[in-house]
Amino acid sequence: MHELSVTESILNTVLESAATHSVSRILKIHLEVGELNGLEAEWIQYYFDVLSKDTMAAGAQIEVHRKPSEFTCHDCGEVFPLDLKSVSKVTCPTCDGKNCSLTGGSEFYIRDMEAV
Ligand SMILES: [Zn+2]
Repeated sequence: MHELSVTESILNTVLESAATHSVSRILKIHLEVGELNGLEAEWIQYYFDVLSKDTMAAGAQIEVHRKPSEFTCHDCGEVFPLDLKSVSKVTCPTCDGKNCSLTGGSEFYIRDMEAV
C-alpha cells in the first residue's frame, strides 16, 4: 500500500501550485490514474483528509479518473490505448503488427484542480 506517500506528494504538488497561482482554497483535485496502478480512490481521499488538515486544501475532494493501459508498436511507432480486460492479444491498430509492448498504465498525475 503506497497511498500514503502518493497522497503526500499530491498534497505537496497542489499546495505549491496554489502558492504560485495565489488561490485561497483548493476545492477539487482531478487525478489521472493508469488502470494498472493499484491506487484506491477511497484511501487517497482518506489520507488526503488527514494530511490536508490545516492547509488550504482541507476538505478538497479527490476525483480519480482511470486511464486505460497504453501500448507502443515497435514496428510503426504507434502509441495506442487498450483495455487489457477486453482483448486476449495485443495487435497494433495501425499496421496490424504484434510487436507491441506495454508502455503506460501504471503512472498517475494531477490533471487539474479547482480552486478559488
Ligand atoms: Zn504498428
